[in-house]
Amino acid sequence: MIKYLVIGDPIGHSRSPGMQNAAFAACGLGRPYGIKKVTAEELPDFFEFARKNYFGVNITVPHKIRAAELADSLTERAGECGSVNTLIISENSILGDSTDGVGLEMALKYCFNSTLEGKKILFCGAGGAARATAVHLAGCGVTEISFINRTIEKAQELSDLCCKKNPALVSEVIVPADDVLGRVAVGRADFLIQATSLGLKESDPMPLNASWLEKGMKVKIFDTIYHPTKLQKYAEELSLSWANGKEMLVQQGAESFRLWTKIVPPLEVMREGFDKGDDLQ
Ligand code: NAP
Repeated sequence: MIKYLVIGDPIGHSRSPGMQNAAFAACGLGRPYGIKKVTAEELPDFFEFARKNYFGVNITVPHKIRAAELADSLTERAGECGSVNTLIISENSILGDSTDGVGLEMALKYCFNSTLEGKKILFCGAGGAARATAVHLAGCGVTEISFINRTIEKAQELSDLCCKKNPALVSEVIVPADDVLGRVAVGRADFLIQATSLGLKESDPMPLNASWLEKGMKVKIFDTIYHPTKLQKYAEELSLSWANGKEMLVQQGAESFRLWTKIVPPLEVMREGFDKGDDLQ
C-alpha cells in the first residue's frame, strides 16, 4: 500500500520512486513509495488528504514555498529558508522540513572529496533550490556565498538571508551582464553551484557567460540538473572538475528516508535505484 509519495507538476520525470523504493525494499519494508501529479490549485486539498493517508511526502517544483505555508509546523531549517521538500506526518499533524540543503552539502563533499570549511561559493540562480541550499551552506563554515541571477532583487534577498544566518559571511550580488565582476567571481570561487533551470531543455542557453570559465581554474562546478547539459559538456571540454545533480537528489532523499523511518539510509542502494528507475510506477 502506498504510504509515501512524491508530488509536483510536472512530475513524470521524477527519479524519487526508484530511489526510495529501492531503499524501503532493501530494509524489508516493501515498495510503499508512489508518485502523483498535484497542481497548485489542488495542493491545499492534497494536504488534507495526506494528513489522513500518508506517513511521508516529498514535494518538488513548483510547490516547495507554498508547502511551507500549508504545513502545520516547520523544522528550524525549513523555517529559515521558507521552503519545504519533505512532509513528516503523524497523528494527523504535518511537519514540514527541507532536506535540499543537507543534500547539496553532502553531495559537494562526496563528489569532490572536499570539506566546505573556509570555501567560497558562487551560485548561479536564486530560485527555490538556491534558497533552500544557500541558507544551509551559510551555516556550514564557508566564508563567502555570492549570487549571479537574472532577477537581481531575488539574488539580493537571498544574499541578505544568508548573511542573517551567518553575519561573518561575505556575499556579493552580480548582474549577469557584468563581464568584469562575473569573471572575477568565477575565478575566486571554490565551488560554482548551477541552480537555475537553464539546461532542463536542450535548447536552453548556458546559465552563465561561457568565457568566464577557463582551463586550469580551481573552481569545481556542481550542476543541480541531473541529466547532461551544455554546462557539463563545456566543463568536461575544459577538463574542469564537475558533477551533476544526481548525488544531491540521492542525499536529500536519503535524509527524507531517515526522517521517516529512523533507519540509516542505504545510500549505495539508493544510487542504484536512481539509475534503474521504478518499474512499478
Ligand atoms: P525556480 O524556483 O523556478 O528558479 C529558477 C531559477 O532559474 C531562477 O534563478 C531563475 O531566475 C532562473 N532562470 C529561469 N529561466 C531563466 C532564463 N531564461 N534566464 C536566466 N535565468 C533563468 O526553480 P528551482 O526549484 O530553484 O529549480 C532550479 C534548478 O534546480 C532546476 O534545474 C532543478 O532541476 C534543480 N534542482 C535539483 C535538485 C536535485 O536534487 N538535484 C533539487 C532541486 C532543484 P529568476 O530569478 O530571474 O527567475
